[in-house]
Amino acid sequence: MLIVNATLVTWETPNRLLPDHALYIEGARIREIGTSAALLVKYPREEKLDARGQLAMPGNICAHTHFYGAFARGLAIPGEAPQNFREILEKLWWPLDKSLDAEAVRYSALTCLVDAARHGTTTLIDHHASPNAIDGSLDVIEQAVVQAGLRACLCYEVTDRDGPEKMRAGIRENVRFLQKTKSPLVAATFGLHAPLTLSNATLDECRAAAPEGTGFHIHVSESEDDGYAMFDNNTGVAWPVDWLNKQGILGPKTIIAHAVHVDEYEMDQLADTQTWVTHQPRSNMNNAVGVAQVEAMLEKGIKVGLGNDGFSNSMWDEWRAAYFLQKIHHLDPRRMNGMDVAKMAIYHNAELANIFFPDAPIGQLVPGAAADLIFVDYHSPTELTAGNLPWHILFGFQNSMVTATIVGGKVLMKNRELLTLDEKEIAAKAREQAAKVWKRYNAQVQ
Ligand SMILES: [Zn+2]
Repeated sequence: MLIVNATLVTWETPNRLLPDHALYIEGARIREIGTSAALLVKYPREEKLDARGQLAMPGNICAHTHFYGAFARGLAIPGEAPQNFREILEKLWWPLDKSLDAEAVRYSALTCLVDAARHGTTTLIDHHASPNAIDGSLDVIEQAVVQAGLRACLCYEVTDRDGPEKMRAGIRENVRFLQKTKSPLVAATFGLHAPLTLSNATLDECRAAAPEGTGFHIHVSESEDDGYAMFDNNTGVAWPVDWLNKQGILGPKTIIAHAVHVDEYEMDQLADTQTWVTHQPRSNMNNAVGVAQVEAMLEKGIKVGLGNDGFSNSMWDEWRAAYFLQKIHHLDPRRMNGMDVAKMAIYHNAELANIFFPDAPIGQLVPGAAADLIFVDYHSPTELTAGNLPWHILFGFQNSMVTATIVGGKVLMKNRELLTLDEKEIAAKAREQAAKVWKRYNAQVQ
């Protein structure tokens, strides 16, 4: 396939904008980049996709999400509103995830994948929980991801909150799926809930069960509850990050989601172990848990990426939240440079995705890279350069401007029409499933 008449945003280091360029895609990869004129002469018979002057750029990557949370939208929490993060878990998320069966898991995933394809998010790192449908749940999500044609890295959250049997079922599901998944679009890692629901003994079992070289994907210090849990769970350690380090959970393949309440001592350990941190500002604001010190972490060389924690898969909304949050929090408009947002959302997310999908580089438009890209119908009223692009994204890009989504050389959306997913049918089936889920949820919380 030959994409012509595009302004390419390569997101190399340094980034380049290439007007009136073409991309030759062979199979799942970008084979060649050149001017439209040159490649039209070289590949005259190749099937063409005319970008009509739009931007063509690598698809967005989401470093931490929860497909299973789709049916929380519009759900009323009965009784008093949750007062803190622990109550949000106890009144909303834990009864909700217990209400999921396999079909609900399937349609919550498909709902999020429609949203991702439509908004140009082509790779997602998911963290799944369905305590009453654990076995095979990752297969169900895998089928949805393959049907959509997007890329995802999956895991199941191991937790002690539902007793040892379900804790072990969670371990089994991770190990089984890590050994099983073979699809070029689906990768796996080992999921853990958070220090507040994990014991020393459980982490020992997880580490022993995880295949050699596997990293972990875990929430850490999203609220202060993980810190309290160090004492409540008799871990013998005072800091959650320190504890995970001593337990052998940290490392260059491990993802720590949130890290809102970490101190300098813990940041140094995250930097030393090259552990990944993901930032989800919309979720942090919604849960009122605090503001992650992402600038300090970036300065220490910690690889901080950007996730959405199950919020909409419009990553540019997450860019904006990340950008504004530090400014208002510090009452200082100089905080959170737009380039730092791009560093997290573009460069770090791409490097993280490449750990799970090592076959071809993701997140750059260069020869040999995975052909994962989007068209953005953006016609700037001011000069657009590689240097000021982050601010165009922050202040000018809208999710509705994504008109095409391509993953592994396959066109998933063209002229805003989804080609692999039937949006209306999925929404209708999702509403059926959501009604059942809400009924089961209400039976638990009333
Ligand atoms: Zn999360």
